[in-house]
Amino acid sequence: MLKLRKYFSTKQTPQSEKLPGSTQIKNSAGGYVWEVNDWTRLDRFLILGSESGTYYAKPQALTVENAEAVLRCLQADGIRTVARIVEISTTGRAPKNDPALFALAMAAGLGNDETRKAALDALPQVARIGTHLFHFLDYVEGFRGWGRGLRRAVGSWYTQKTPAALAYQAIKYQQRDGWSHRDALRLAHPKALLEEQALIYKWITKGATDFPEGTLADNGLRMIWAFEQAKQATTVREVCTLIEDYRLPWEAVPTQWLADPKVWDTLLPILPMTALIRNLGRLTKLGVLSPMSANGKLVAARLTNEAALKKARIHPLKVLSALTTYQQGHGVRGSLTWQPVQRVTDALDTAFYKSFRNIVPTGKRIVLALDVSGSMSFRDIAGMPGVTPRVGSAAMALVTAATENNVEIMAFSRDFVPLKISPRRRLDDAVKAVSGLPFSATDCALPMKWALKNKVEADAFVVYTDSETWAGITHPSQALVPYRQKMGIAAKLVVVGMVSNGFSIADPKDAGMLDVVGFDTATPALMSDFIRD
Ligand code: CA
Repeated sequence: MLKLRKYFSTKQTPQSEKLPGSTQIKNSAGGYVWEVNDWTRLDRFLILGSESGTYYAKPQALTVENAEAVLRCLQADGIRTVARIVEISTTGRAPKNDPALFALAMAAGLGNDETRKAALDALPQVARIGTHLFHFLDYVEGFRGWGRGLRRAVGSWYTQKTPAALAYQAIKYQQRDGWSHRDALRLAHPKALLEEQALIYKWITKGATDFPEGTLADNGLRMIWAFEQAKQATTVREVCTLIEDYRLPWEAVPTQWLADPKVWDTLLPILPMTALIRNLGRLTKLGVLSPMSANGKLVAARLTNEAALKKARIHPLKVLSALTTYQQGHGVRGSLTWQPVQRVTDALDTAFYKSFRNIVPTGKRIVLALDVSGSMSFRDIAGMPGVTPRVGSAAMALVTAATENNVEIMAFSRDFVPLKISPRRRLDDAVKAVSGLPFSATDCALPMKWALKNKVEADAFVVYTDSETWAGITHPSQALVPYRQKMGIAAKLVVVGMVSNGFSIADPKDAGMLDVVGFDTATPALMSDFIRD
């Protein structure tokens, strides 16, 4: 007999070969998978970014690939693309806003008339703070010139703000990454709608502080006045009084005073959530946060306030990154050290789960399968220090495990093994458990094969992976077919894409398979909806 079946079978095809009759493409590891559509790719880019690259792709190549997908989306439906950028950005679904600003800049420069207008109109929604505006300006210069449309949009960013809001932005984010408000105002030339605005522009562009008599009653000018006073302060008492009376943000406090615990004691009640999370190490080092202290209690209460977390768009990835850094007692560069306060660490653990969109439990039987192969252990997600795709998957799996009562968390590369992690264990502990696992080749068909072999009843398989699978003798989609038949369960497959490449093991033609994006705050809820119906 000629061994023809070995070369061509729709039931069993090695992953190194294309599924017969399919539209599969070759992934970077040499296996065959499906290419996600451009809209899924857009989501992956907006949420996971490309700045860290992947095990297989350098940041530059990954950015080019993603930008080309954004371009195809803009050509197919520019208005839909802009709407998606606005949605992902304003609902805080992504850990970083830069991909959204970059995509918006592309839309503002490369879209058709209607799209360019929609993108520029959306600027204040997507560029919510000074830093966002500066990054947008930097990106947009790569796609267009300073025509009337851009001048007007940037001008509106300033004129639409109340003097108080504008002054706050101007002293909090004076300059970032080579751009300043002075640059932006000089290029956009907005016409002030109010006298206070005009005075603030003059202060920004010329440093003029000769505010006329009486105008200081206005909040914005008062804050700028206080900011200038703080620069000349000679005692910590003066600085603290200015912070208290004028609600100065910490960025407006001259650096030499930021080493004084009294200054942080004063700042603490008015510190925005993002600044609070960013400064936990410093606050602990200075003794502002200590075990059993009133400040510790206050901070723990703020960190676990779900409404406040959501209002401040605190992304779980930032919380995870803050938790892993805080509990190790030293900064990323290691210059700052502190003794972590247990209450704060625990609060961060709780904050992580609370920063996801509300999830309705499915009550179904779910196998959560984490790809722990080599490629998942390389490069950080969205540039977050210490959070590799493998660590990120463990954290994501715990979110689902925390709401479901019938889950099995497993890990695979060459073998398929139970993972001893649970939401009852603290996150950084769980992260350590997955970080220590050995890794080897990748076979994403293992979860289904294991479940069939062991007669495990599962309504859904959730696979956290980069879809760089290549080592199996059967495609993952093929492994699901006999499982469904022999077990008599119409089991579903959810693929959680953990990097912003274009690959997926989900068959786009199978309605029982779904692609979602890792570290999208909406992902656990989207998965739950899909598995429940
Ligand atoms: Ca791999």
